[in-house]
Amino acid sequence: MPAVSDDSGEKLNELRSIVRRQAEDRPGVYRMVSEGGEVVYVGKSKRVRTRLMSYFRAVFPDEKGARIVREAAAIEWTYVPSEFAALLEELRTIKRLRPRFNHAMKRDARNYAFVALTREPAPRLVVLRGTGVKGESVVYGPFTGATWLKEALRELSDSLGLRDCALVDRRMKYSDQQEIFAFPPRTPGCIRFEIGKCLGPCIAAPTAASYRDRVVQARAFLDGTNDGPIERLVESMKEASERLEFERAGALRDKCQRLEGLRDQFDRMRFAAESLTFAYHVEGVGGDDRVYLIRRGVVRAELPAPRTPADEMVLKDATRRVVSDTPITSPRSIPQHEVDELLVIAAWFKANPKEMERSKPLRFD
Ligand code: SF4
Repeated sequence: MPAVSDDSGEKLNELRSIVRRQAEDRPGVYRMVSEGGEVVYVGKSKRVRTRLMSYFRAVFPDEKGARIVREAAAIEWTYVPSEFAALLEELRTIKRLRPRFNHAMKRDARNYAFVALTREPAPRLVVLRGTGVKGESVVYGPFTGATWLKEALRELSDSLGLRDCALVDRRMKYSDQQEIFAFPPRTPGCIRFEIGKCLGPCIAAPTAASYRDRVVQARAFLDGTNDGPIERLVESMKEASERLEFERAGALRDKCQRLEGLRDQFDRMRFAAESLTFAYHVEGVGGDDRVYLIRRGVVRAELPAPRTPADEMVLKDATRRVVSDTPITSPRSIPQHEVDELLVIAAWFKANPKEMERSKPLRFD
């Protein structure tokens, strides 16, 4: 749609008239474009025309819709076969263009907490709100409730001697990387080092290999392949009981329970992600039906719904590729770039549980 001249009331009338004449009530994604060509908002609707017309009915000038349409010099839209297709297209367009009025997706993500194992020189475990993870990190989640997660991660960091401070990376050194005449002070002034809860990379106390070994153990625990931290706590708890140190044994039991809670939550999350693995048949406008091959909550392939035996073969081939080629780096971690799509797809099936009846297992035999 061409841009219209900017003269508030006149501009709005012109935009409204264009939408009324040109837009259709079909599923689609629309973009509000500013005078300078910036896409300021992306939205989707099952009925594009009705949705766009609603922007011109905003009663109060400070309503979100009124503010968005005031910024727009042009409105563009693209039709897609279904509401689900619109949902995916909206998500991908928002991720690509990051329009400034699109806060909804960020807000969704902020309702969840994630665990990240950072890839800093001395990696640490952190709890993140939303998906705005800076730098390369291995991300696990989403989880609800950040408080218990923080406590459980503190136990894990303590039991493995990982740092939990936000000291800048350049302060981190290992004992086998020290430069002559550049010895750091032998105490970090940090209680975690003094009481043996951190190996102390800030004062070059551990070797690079010993710290890396603890990081590997943390990753293995988060991936569900090693329960070492829990087993060590159970062992210490037994020893404390045998020495009749019941108070200490009780404290160790609480730590152990927090870690077990973390492990169980990770297993539930893995189950939830795995349960979003199927072929999803969606009826499209005008018979444009599609099949979405979803694995671990992410659409890995989209094909026209098969109508002939040859189409069936194409679908089977695509399914085989999705099942065998999609790298699952860790059973519990979600690649950072997949988190938004996982959240959107999980929300879709939660809001539309009957849609699950259109799903079939990913089979190619
Ligand atoms: S001992 Fe050093 S590296 Fe460890 S948490 Fe404390 S300040 Fe950070």
